[in-house]
Amino acid sequence: MNTSTARILLIEDEKHLAEGLLYNLSAEGYEAELARDGQEALELFDRGQWNLIVLDLMLPLLDGFEVARQIRDRDPRVPILMLTARSAEEDRVKGLECGGDDYLTKPFHLQELLLRIRGMLRRSSWYRTVPGEGDRYCFGEGCWVDFRERTAMGPGGERRLTEKELSILKCLVERASETVSREDMLREVWGYGPGVETRTVDNFMRRLRTYFEKDPASPEHIVSVRGLGYRFDP
Ligand code: CA
Repeated sequence: MNTSTARILLIEDEKHLAEGLLYNLSAEGYEAELARDGQEALELFDRGQWNLIVLDLMLPLLDGFEVARQIRDRDPRVPILMLTARSAEEDRVKGLECGGDDYLTKPFHLQELLLRIRGMLRRSSWYRTVPGEGDRYCFGEGCWVDFRERTAMGPGGERRLTEKELSILKCLVERASETVSREDMLREVWGYGPGVETRTVDNFMRRLRTYFEKDPASPEHIVSVRGLGYRFDP
Protein backbone atom coordinates (compact mmCIF):
# COMPACT_ATOMS: atom_id res chain seq x y z
CA MET A 1 0.00 0.00 0.00
CA ASN A 2 1.29 3.42 -0.91
CA THR A 3 0.60 5.50 2.20
CA SER A 4 0.33 8.73 0.19
CA THR A 5 -2.87 7.56 -1.49
CA ALA A 6 -4.43 6.09 1.62
CA ARG A 7 -8.14 6.55 2.15
CA ILE A 8 -8.99 8.25 5.41
CA LEU A 9 -12.40 8.50 7.01
CA LEU A 10 -12.57 11.65 9.11
CA ILE A 11 -15.34 11.66 11.71
CA GLU A 12 -15.66 15.10 13.24
CA ASP A 13 -18.68 17.30 13.97
CA GLU A 14 -16.94 20.63 14.56
CA LYS A 15 -17.50 22.29 11.21
CA HIS A 16 -14.44 24.52 10.96
CA LEU A 17 -12.03 21.93 12.33
CA ALA A 18 -13.47 19.27 10.05
CA GLU A 19 -13.21 21.43 6.94
CA GLY A 20 -9.66 22.47 7.79
CA LEU A 21 -8.59 18.88 8.35
CA LEU A 22 -10.27 17.69 5.20
CA TYR A 23 -8.48 20.37 3.19
CA ASN A 24 -5.11 19.52 4.70
CA LEU A 25 -5.50 15.77 4.35
CA SER A 26 -6.30 16.24 0.66
CA ALA A 27 -3.32 18.59 0.31
CA GLU A 28 -1.15 15.79 1.72
CA GLY A 29 -2.38 13.52 -1.06
CA TYR A 30 -4.81 11.44 1.00
CA GLU A 31 -8.29 10.66 -0.17
CA ALA A 32 -10.33 11.86 2.77
CA GLU A 33 -14.05 11.86 3.37
CA LEU A 34 -15.96 13.49 6.19
CA ALA A 35 -18.70 12.13 8.44
CA ARG A 36 -20.36 14.68 10.73
CA ASP A 37 -22.02 12.33 13.17
CA GLY A 38 -21.80 8.75 14.41
CA GLN A 39 -24.49 7.35 12.15
CA GLU A 40 -23.11 8.92 9.01
CA ALA A 41 -19.70 7.57 10.06
CA LEU A 42 -20.91 3.97 10.08
CA GLU A 43 -22.77 4.43 6.81
CA LEU A 44 -19.66 5.80 5.12
CA PHE A 45 -17.51 3.13 6.71
CA ASP A 46 -19.70 0.39 5.26
CA ARG A 47 -19.65 1.94 1.81
CA GLY A 48 -15.88 2.24 1.36
CA GLN A 49 -12.49 0.69 1.89
CA TRP A 50 -10.56 2.68 4.48
CA ASN A 51 -6.91 2.63 5.45
CA LEU A 52 -7.33 4.76 8.55
CA ILE A 53 -10.06 6.30 10.69
CA VAL A 54 -9.75 9.64 12.49
CA LEU A 55 -12.49 9.63 15.10
CA ASP A 56 -13.64 12.45 17.35
CA LEU A 57 -15.06 10.98 20.56
CA MET A 58 -17.74 13.60 21.23
CA LEU A 59 -20.22 13.21 18.40
CA PRO A 60 -23.94 13.66 17.85
CA LEU A 61 -26.29 10.65 17.45
CA LEU A 62 -23.71 7.96 18.29
CA ASP A 63 -20.64 8.81 20.34
CA GLY A 64 -17.13 7.94 19.26
CA PHE A 65 -16.85 5.01 21.66
CA GLU A 66 -19.83 3.30 20.09
CA VAL A 67 -18.59 4.12 16.60
CA ALA A 68 -15.20 2.58 17.45
CA ARG A 69 -16.88 -0.55 18.84
CA GLN A 70 -18.97 -1.01 15.74
CA ILE A 71 -16.05 -0.39 13.38
CA ARG A 72 -14.00 -2.95 15.33
CA ASP A 73 -16.79 -5.51 14.97
CA ARG A 74 -16.64 -5.06 11.23
CA ASP A 75 -12.86 -4.76 10.84
CA PRO A 76 -10.34 -5.69 13.56
CA ARG A 77 -7.41 -4.19 11.65
CA VAL A 78 -8.16 -0.71 10.35
CA PRO A 79 -6.15 1.77 12.45
CA ILE A 80 -8.28 4.19 14.51
CA LEU A 81 -6.85 7.48 15.74
CA MET A 82 -9.09 9.07 18.37
CA LEU A 83 -9.42 12.76 19.09
CA THR A 84 -10.13 13.43 22.76
CA ALA A 85 -10.72 16.46 24.94
CA ARG A 86 -7.85 17.71 27.04
CA SER A 87 -7.08 15.79 30.24
CA ALA A 88 -9.87 13.25 29.83
CA GLU A 89 -7.76 10.27 30.90
CA GLU A 90 -10.80 8.01 31.41
CA ASP A 91 -11.90 8.79 27.86
CA ARG A 92 -8.54 7.66 26.55
CA VAL A 93 -8.59 4.40 28.46
CA LYS A 94 -12.17 3.75 27.44
CA GLY A 95 -11.37 4.70 23.86
CA LEU A 96 -8.53 2.19 23.66
CA GLU A 97 -10.80 -0.44 25.20
CA CYS A 98 -13.34 0.23 22.49
CA GLY A 99 -10.76 -0.56 19.84
CA GLY A 100 -8.88 2.72 19.27
CA ASP A 101 -5.19 2.38 18.45
CA ASP A 102 -4.02 5.78 19.53
CA TYR A 103 -5.34 9.18 20.56
CA LEU A 104 -4.49 12.80 20.06
CA THR A 105 -5.58 15.40 22.59
CA LYS A 106 -7.43 18.50 21.39
CA PRO A 107 -6.28 21.11 20.61
CA PHE A 108 -3.47 19.66 18.54
CA HIS A 109 -1.10 20.97 15.91
CA LEU A 110 -1.86 19.97 12.36
CA GLN A 111 1.70 18.72 11.92
CA GLU A 112 1.31 16.42 14.91
CA LEU A 113 -1.85 14.92 13.44
CA LEU A 114 -0.18 14.39 10.05
CA LEU A 115 2.83 12.80 11.74
CA ARG A 116 0.60 10.38 13.63
CA ILE A 117 -1.34 9.49 10.51
CA ARG A 118 1.85 8.83 8.57
CA GLY A 119 3.21 6.69 11.39
CA MET A 120 0.02 4.66 11.75
CA LEU A 121 -0.25 4.04 8.01
CA ARG A 122 3.40 3.06 7.79
CA ARG A 123 3.13 0.62 10.66
CA SER A 124 -0.05 -0.90 9.37
CA SER A 125 1.38 -1.49 5.88
CA TRP A 126 4.63 -2.77 7.39
CA TYR A 127 2.68 -5.19 9.52
CA ARG A 128 0.84 -6.65 6.53
CA THR A 129 4.09 -7.42 4.74
CA VAL A 130 5.93 -9.09 7.62
CA PRO A 131 6.53 -12.69 6.50
CA GLY A 132 6.52 -15.89 8.48
CA GLU A 133 3.72 -15.17 10.89
CA GLY A 134 1.65 -18.24 10.21
CA ASP A 135 2.50 -19.98 13.43
CA ARG A 136 0.72 -20.05 16.68
CA TYR A 137 2.97 -18.82 19.45
CA CYS A 138 2.33 -20.63 22.74
CA PHE A 139 3.39 -19.57 26.21
CA GLY A 140 2.48 -19.92 29.88
CA GLU A 141 -0.32 -22.27 30.83
CA GLY A 142 -2.39 -22.67 27.70
CA CYS A 143 -1.90 -19.13 26.37
CA TRP A 144 -1.28 -18.56 22.68
CA VAL A 145 -1.27 -15.87 20.01
CA ASP A 146 -2.13 -16.79 16.45
CA PHE A 147 -0.57 -14.07 14.30
CA ARG A 148 -2.23 -15.25 11.12
CA GLU A 149 -5.72 -15.79 12.47
CA ARG A 150 -5.38 -12.69 14.68
CA THR A 151 -6.72 -14.49 17.70
CA ALA A 152 -5.41 -15.24 21.16
CA MET A 153 -6.15 -17.54 24.06
CA GLY A 154 -5.77 -16.70 27.72
CA PRO A 155 -7.43 -17.43 31.04
CA GLY A 156 -10.48 -15.45 29.90
CA GLY A 157 -10.93 -17.54 26.75
CA GLU A 158 -10.35 -16.93 23.06
CA ARG A 159 -10.59 -13.48 21.55
CA ARG A 160 -9.87 -11.54 18.38
CA LEU A 161 -6.97 -9.11 18.46
CA THR A 162 -6.68 -5.70 16.87
CA GLU A 163 -3.78 -4.89 14.61
CA LYS A 164 -2.16 -2.76 17.29
CA GLU A 165 -2.45 -5.52 19.88
CA LEU A 166 -0.85 -7.94 17.43
CA SER A 167 1.99 -5.55 16.69
CA ILE A 168 2.69 -5.07 20.39
CA LEU A 169 2.63 -8.80 21.03
CA LYS A 170 4.93 -9.38 18.09
CA CYS A 171 7.36 -6.80 19.45
CA LEU A 172 7.25 -8.42 22.93
CA VAL A 173 7.56 -11.98 21.64
CA GLU A 174 10.50 -11.14 19.38
CA ARG A 175 12.33 -9.76 22.36
CA ALA A 176 11.11 -12.24 24.98
CA SER A 177 12.90 -12.02 28.34
CA GLU A 178 14.44 -8.68 27.37
CA THR A 179 13.35 -5.34 28.69
CA VAL A 180 11.68 -3.24 26.00
CA SER A 181 11.47 0.46 26.77
CA ARG A 182 8.26 2.42 26.17
CA GLU A 183 10.17 4.56 23.70
CA ASP A 184 11.34 1.52 21.72
CA MET A 185 7.83 0.22 21.67
CA LEU A 186 6.39 3.53 20.46
CA ARG A 187 8.97 3.58 17.70
CA GLU A 188 8.51 -0.04 16.67
CA VAL A 189 4.78 -0.33 17.01
CA TRP A 190 3.53 3.21 16.42
CA GLY A 191 6.41 4.47 14.29
CA TYR A 192 7.06 7.57 16.40
CA GLY A 193 10.19 9.26 17.53
CA PRO A 194 10.74 10.13 21.20
CA GLY A 195 8.65 12.73 23.00
CA VAL A 196 5.24 11.19 22.39
CA GLU A 197 3.05 10.32 25.35
CA THR A 198 4.15 6.95 26.66
CA ARG A 199 0.93 6.37 28.59
CA THR A 200 -0.55 4.95 25.43
CA VAL A 201 1.84 2.02 25.85
CA ASP A 202 0.79 1.56 29.48
CA ASN A 203 -2.87 1.51 28.55
CA PHE A 204 -2.27 -1.23 26.01
CA MET A 205 -0.20 -3.27 28.44
CA ARG A 206 -2.98 -3.05 31.01
CA ARG A 207 -5.39 -4.36 28.43
CA LEU A 208 -3.13 -7.20 27.25
CA ARG A 209 -2.71 -8.28 30.85
CA THR A 210 -6.44 -8.76 31.15
CA TYR A 211 -6.18 -11.16 28.19
CA PHE A 212 -3.20 -13.24 29.31
CA GLU A 213 -2.76 -12.92 33.06
CA LYS A 214 -4.59 -15.00 35.64
CA ASP A 215 -4.25 -12.02 37.95
CA PRO A 216 -3.67 -8.84 35.92
CA ALA A 217 -2.66 -7.03 39.13
CA SER A 218 0.36 -9.32 39.60
CA PRO A 219 1.37 -10.24 36.08
CA GLU A 220 3.63 -13.19 35.28
CA HIS A 221 4.06 -12.68 31.55
CA ILE A 222 3.78 -8.97 30.83
CA VAL A 223 5.99 -7.61 33.56
CA SER A 224 6.71 -3.95 34.33
CA VAL A 225 10.36 -3.06 34.66
CA ARG A 226 10.32 -0.04 36.89
CA GLY A 227 11.57 3.13 35.23
CA LEU A 228 12.45 1.25 32.03
CA GLY A 229 9.51 -0.40 30.34
CA TYR A 230 8.20 -3.93 29.97
CA ARG A 231 9.49 -7.46 29.72
CA PHE A 232 7.69 -10.44 28.28
CA ASP A 233 8.34 -13.62 30.27
CA PRO A 234 6.96 -16.64 28.36
CA1 CA B 1 -17.00 16.78 18.70
